[in-house]
Amino acid sequence: MKVNGYAATEQKAKLIPYSYDLGEIGSEEVDIKVSYCGICHSDLSMINNDWGMTQYPIVPGHEIIGEVIAIGNAVKNVSVGDKVGLGWMSASCMSCEQCMDGEHHLCPQSEATIVGRNGGFADKVRGHWSWAIPLPEGIDMSKAGPLLCGGITVFNPIILAGVKPTDKVGVIGIGGLGHMAVKFLKHWGCEVIAFSSNPAKKKSILNMGASQVIDSTSTEELESINGKLDFILNTTNVSLDWNSYLTALAPKGKFHTVGAVLEPMEIPAFSLIMGEKSVGGSPIGSPALTKTMLDFCVRHNIYPDVEEFPMAKVNEAIEHLENGKARFRIVLKNK
Ligand SMILES: [Zn+2]
Ligand SMILES: [Zn+2]
Repeated sequence: MKVNGYAATEQKAKLIPYSYDLGEIGSEEVDIKVSYCGICHSDLSMINNDWGMTQYPIVPGHEIIGEVIAIGNAVKNVSVGDKVGLGWMSASCMSCEQCMDGEHHLCPQSEATIVGRNGGFADKVRGHWSWAIPLPEGIDMSKAGPLLCGGITVFNPIILAGVKPTDKVGVIGIGGLGHMAVKFLKHWGCEVIAFSSNPAKKKSILNMGASQVIDSTSTEELESINGKLDFILNTTNVSLDWNSYLTALAPKGKFHTVGAVLEPMEIPAFSLIMGEKSVGGSPIGSPALTKTMLDFCVRHNIYPDVEEFPMAKVNEAIEHLENGKARFRIVLKNK
């Protein structure tokens, strides 16, 4: 099957129309006709080879919403015609301890949708059935794409940290990831404090459900929250004064990062010891949890704020994101 997409042929290059053949479908694989695909910061990182694992030409795109158009003869769970989502991962081994435990996203043999293979800035994409997540009835497909990577990335920590509806929580960085975190935590029942360095976003952050926006560049404002938060989720990938956030945690509080900060994070031991605090991190989440999150989104009408671009204007869309103008997530639409 021939795929028409957009690829970067070298580091930091603009995307150009690119066609390739998928070859014969594997027995456990599904082919998806792409309706929408979100743009995630990881797409930029892969185009730019920031993580040193990009193979060119690369068709980016891993927040895919579409319809199953072909399945291998041993596919379970999905049928031709089903509406599905495909996120950062496109396959897991299905037999390791993590896979057997339902933690397919931690599988050491897992395959990422745009690492060494081609993703969703295209009319079609292929993946293993386990990661073709069936979409719940009534979901808004035009906005759902970003939930498949960014959404599950910030939803999983809520489960991992055992966040309770009575908790007071903080979210650092209100961009593509952070704004979804604010919405999830608000609907979870929590009181949500947002940490943002951009005063222009304040009104929209309050509209998302935050009860307070703290200017993260103001030491005074940061100190006003000392010892009060049960959980803090960091979604930024820049180095901050992490200790001031550990100080903002209540005793037994948990600090969790999904922001891929490249420099080592300075965490003073005493900040953890005295209040029995902990620090953690996580990637996306399992296929089962992704499905649960999508159900939760439909139940509470939670969607990312998206700006839509036609797939053919992918370079404009990427530039918009790179310039920090996205409010808050971009979705490409196929004709
Ligand atoms: Zn992503
Ligand atoms: Zn596995």
